[in-house]
Amino acid sequence: MVGLEVRDAVVRYGATTAVDHVSLQVTPGAVVALLGPSGSGKSTLLRAIAGLEPLVSGAVLWDGTDLARVKVHKRNFGMVFQDAQLFPTMTVGRNIAYGLGSLGRAAQRERVAEMLDLIGLPGFESRRVTELSGGQAQRIALARSLAPSPRLLLLDEPLSALDTGLRRRLADDLARILRATHTTAIHVTHDHQEAYTVADTVAVLQEGRLLQEADPDALRRTP
Ligand code: ADP
Ligand code: ADP
Repeated sequence: MVGLEVRDAVVRYGATTAVDHVSLQVTPGAVVALLGPSGSGKSTLLRAIAGLEPLVSGAVLWDGTDLARVKVHKRNFGMVFQDAQLFPTMTVGRNIAYGLGSLGRAAQRERVAEMLDLIGLPGFESRRVTELSGGQAQRIALARSLAPSPRLLLLDEPLSALDTGLRRRLADDLARILRATHTTAIHVTHDHQEAYTVADTVAVLQEGRLLQEADPDALRRTP
């Protein structure tokens, strides 16, 4: 199996089973939404895939290799959270270049400019992080995560802190950006509309269990 495979994963917090025998596959280039109400286990599953939460049983594999043996920072996964979590004392450019240490200065500058064009904020290199709007900060967080070309991008409610109109616009932009960069991604949200906009496949979670997986068109037709 190429890409990501979650095989019969279980995560518990004490007596609470947060992820209950979930199996999931994400093929290269695909965008999968994890959709479900608060407490359904979306974040926990995402964190388990990232290696931030231990599995009680089951496995997470990439290209058939069990990731239990791969350190978190060696997985080459990117993450975006609900709040941008930018480095406040660094400029926008330095934030985006953060994961580009293996490149020379000129190549870093070029990559940062390319990312700023991609997210629709060209020329923002020397802006201060504290002057950004919420939507701009989330775009920069996305650019920072995408800059090192992660093999998998994990998005944990990245638009949930924004107001509805902005959320809809950014969901459209995010869908476009993920397609343009051929990024393989898992997008966690409790917002049906957002899941349908961003993902090729929507995986519905409830009480830690995977209820169904379907393409957005099929789910839209379901009453
Ligand atoms: P989310 O909606 O993304 O799950 P929450 O506000 O529920 O966000 O959780 C925020 C943080 O608190 C997360 O790091 C989560 O792991 C932790 N958390 C959630 N529920 C509990 C709980 N019952 N006990 C301890 N920590 C929790
Ligand atoms: P979601 O992301 O869908 O809101 P979570 O993965 O945050 O759901 O939570 C799934 C379940 O696990 C919930 O019952 C939550 O309270 C519990 N939980 C999450 N994180 C923790 C934690 N750090 N400690 C204890 N319980 C947690």
